Amino acid sequence: MSRFDKFQQILTSRRTELETRLGKITRDVSKKASADWSEQAQERENDEVLDALGNETELELRQVVKALDRLNEGDYGICERCGVDIPEARLEIMPYAALCVKCANEAS
Ligand SMILES: [Zn+2]
Repeated sequence: MSRFDKFQQILTSRRTELETRLGKITRDVSKKASADWSEQAQERENDEVLDALGNETELELRQVVKALDRLNEGDYGICERCGVDIPEARLEIMPYAALCVKCANEAS
């Protein structure tokens, strides 16, 4: 049992959730791509929303997958930049956090 078990559970279910959402978005987009030209023009606005949603989902999924890799490698909860322990309070809010608050602020 690791003290990060609960985060592993959170991250694993989050990954499933994001993969399901991404799969659904991708299906919606490809369904629209086969529609008539006139319909496509009308739905372009929706597509842009879907694209943005897809990108956002993909970005979070990538971070979640990376965090799970770090869990497996035993690097989880350690700041990638300065090597300090990331406080659990921060991981509670952002389980895929790879940087401590200080480094995250400096990086952005
Ligand atoms: Zn740091």
